[in-house]
Amino acid sequence: MDIDLLKRTLAELGEPKYRANQIWEWTARGANGYEEMTNLPELLRLELDERVPFSTLELIDSAESRDGTIKALFHTHDKRPVEAVMMKYLDGRRSICVSSQSGCPLTCTFCATGTMAFGRNLTTSEILDQALFFKRLENEVNHLVFMGMGEPMMNIDNVLAACEKLPDIGITNRRTTVSTVGWLPGIERFNAQDRPVRLALSLHAADPKLRSEIMPVNDRYPLEDVLIACRKHYAENNRRVYIEYVMLAGVNDHTKHARQLAKLLTPHEAFKVNLIPYNPTGTGYDGSARTTIGAFRDVLLHQGVPATVRLTRGQDIAAACGQLVADAIQDAAIRPARPSQGRPPASD
Ligand code: SAH
Repeated sequence: MDIDLLKRTLAELGEPKYRANQIWEWTARGANGYEEMTNLPELLRLELDERVPFSTLELIDSAESRDGTIKALFHTHDKRPVEAVMMKYLDGRRSICVSSQSGCPLTCTFCATGTMAFGRNLTTSEILDQALFFKRLENEVNHLVFMGMGEPMMNIDNVLAACEKLPDIGITNRRTTVSTVGWLPGIERFNAQDRPVRLALSLHAADPKLRSEIMPVNDRYPLEDVLIACRKHYAENNRRVYIEYVMLAGVNDHTKHARQLAKLLTPHEAFKVNLIPYNPTGTGYDGSARTTIGAFRDVLLHQGVPATVRLTRGQDIAAACGQLVADAIQDAAIRPARPSQGRPPASD
């Protein structure tokens, strides 16, 4: 819901100021529309229905994976595609992955989002409306990551404004993560505020030459400078920075790369590495074998670097990391998402 439009409309209708809060509270709790807001006068509900769309996003399509992951494709009012995903885990975690931009202007060579046209930054309301869509499907949502389309640090003001509102939906800032390629001005802005939001860095290669090859942004903001900002984040907040490392067969997955990474992250206390099995995107890369990923993790652990391997979810509906590219829903072998949650995944 466009909160500014809502406030303007309420003012034009001569409504008291507290109405905006009332309406937001209903919305944040997962109401399906104005008609459910029983403490608003009926005429006002009808008026709002006409004048303030309940969501800034129009649902175009959705799909549900065998593992319960749900992916949704939306359009903004100006027809920009936006995708978001919700992952469900057996321990009750409901984790929403939202987009911060329509498309992405960066051109990481392995990522599908980079291959589609860049649209624009999403507004705060467009970010929140992705989370609210899932809130309406599944009342209990509790984690959120900015790991969908786009580079959140290029849209940091709207990302932080969304973070301010997420606790109303049930997602605390401690359970919110912003992931970046290392867009330094954004990280500096992020460091200058004091919300306890988690920072994650997509690192993917310790060697500067290799990193520049797969992530051209590395030429603009060298890793050395980015890691200084990450260490500052840890020193000031005592929250570890998560290092994302996508495992590309024959590219960055040799044990020598693991040793380089361990060395680069010395001293280790500021970081935790999350190895990401690569999800195929048709960009010409293969994912590393499970055994290779295991050997890589063991080198890191042996060198004293905390490291885990990320669970892959939603691959069958192209909802996994890096697979968000707006036309993917039609292409994937899917079954439509149902409003009810269905059975939880059999294993994790
Ligand atoms: N632009 C931000 C936010 C997107 S997060 C960032 O890059 O951090 C998406 C995460 O998924 C990033 O770590 C990205 O590198 C990773 N990723 C991209 N393509 C992938 C793929 N095909 N398989 C697995 N992970 C991928």
